[in-house]
Amino acid sequence: MMPDRPHWPGHLFDTHCHLHFPELSDDLDPVMERALEAQVRGILIPSVDLPSSVVSSRIAGERGLWSAAGFHPNHLEGASEESFRGVRRLCLLPQAAAVGETGLDRCRNRFPMELQLHWFRRQIELAEALGLPLTVHSRGAEEEVLEALPARPSFPVVLHSWSGGPETTKKAVSRGFYIGFTGAVTYRRSDPAKIFDGVPRELVLAETDAPFLPPEPLRGRRNEPAHVRLTARWIAGRWDVSMAEACSVLWENGLRAFRLHPGNRRTHLVYPMGAGLYVNLTGLCNSDCVFCVRKRVDGIGGYYLRHRGEPSREAVLAALEAAEPGEYSEVVFCGYGEPTMRPDLLAEAAEAASRAGAETRLNTNGLCLDHLSPDETADLLKRFTRVSISLNASGGVEYRRLCHGSCDGAWEKLMSFIRLVGKLGIPGRLTAVSGAGADIPRVRALAARLEMPFTLREG
Ligand code: SF4
Repeated sequence: MMPDRPHWPGHLFDTHCHLHFPELSDDLDPVMERALEAQVRGILIPSVDLPSSVVSSRIAGERGLWSAAGFHPNHLEGASEESFRGVRRLCLLPQAAAVGETGLDRCRNRFPMELQLHWFRRQIELAEALGLPLTVHSRGAEEEVLEALPARPSFPVVLHSWSGGPETTKKAVSRGFYIGFTGAVTYRRSDPAKIFDGVPRELVLAETDAPFLPPEPLRGRRNEPAHVRLTARWIAGRWDVSMAEACSVLWENGLRAFRLHPGNRRTHLVYPMGAGLYVNLTGLCNSDCVFCVRKRVDGIGGYYLRHRGEPSREAVLAALEAAEPGEYSEVVFCGYGEPTMRPDLLAEAAEAASRAGAETRLNTNGLCLDHLSPDETADLLKRFTRVSISLNASGGVEYRRLCHGSCDGAWEKLMSFIRLVGKLGIPGRLTAVSGAGADIPRVRALAARLEMPFTLREG
């Protein structure tokens, strides 16, 4: 069910399916078998509160699906700063593809509009900080929803099970918002059917909103993800295209809407791993190690770490703040590259993490003396609790063979850097990658001579 897979004609993405509700979660294996038979290869599981966000995240993680975490406007009983902290944590996980579902509801109106707006805004801010799409619920409050959203958000907005009229819909699509169509679009003379033709094809999403709103001819029964095929068939008919073509458009739209598409894939700028929080602040590097993970894969641990261009200072700092660095045992500054290539941002981010109460670790190749003076390097290093340095070789010849960097005299610069860390009294650790071709017993012996502890890392 990984959307990374190439698209085959007929594959479908159910962009909103409440697999966390007991109607479906108690029956998950057969539900998922039928989804696979119906060629539903992607599912986004939204949530309504913290407990359901936990369940959605678990199901998505176990089954290779995608989840959203958030507070629904009709389920604000348990909404608090504390539970929102839990939502934020879930939004950092690799399976998280959206914040929500959030929004406003004047039809059921279970909670005061002021409270609904408060949590809607908080979730908009979270989506903005993490670059996550926002999946939005709206009932009888479509204009208010559009008003609360930024005019041109930096993140995709999905108006799920949209029930706005033609004029409101025109405003929404003019701002590039995606419109989710459930089985209700297949009902005769339904409101969604009336506005369907006014939505550009590239903004149309198919969803079930299961266990609710089954398409015709299943109206009145429990809905499930397999039934998104019936909605897609209705859409194919309305577009007057083959089912394969409709599925292809809907699949691509689903990937783009949730930033899973190769063209707009979201890079994880911050990600939890073990007890630490990692900050991926650059894709630049002044080395070119033969064993570099970037030569083989786009990320690690399910996180997508490759950068398309350099992230902005604002994006890195906002993501770090939203992740609450003080909640982790340490914040590790790395990159899908070398973090000291952006010394100003690195210093600023390390200071922000320290201010939040976190210990900080710099993971570096130790080659920053190539572009920073010794004083500048010392000033940078003082911001870290500890430093982990890639030694990777037992001498200059081996180093040049394994890490042919772009800087002259790299080995000598690395040795100077290690000595500087020692002189500053910052706890340092030297590392090497196993199976990369270095003579590990000799690397270990060199580390001992340099008087720093040594760790062999998995290649
Ligand atoms: S220093 Fe790290 S990021 Fe740079 S090439 Fe070597 S392994 Fe890759």
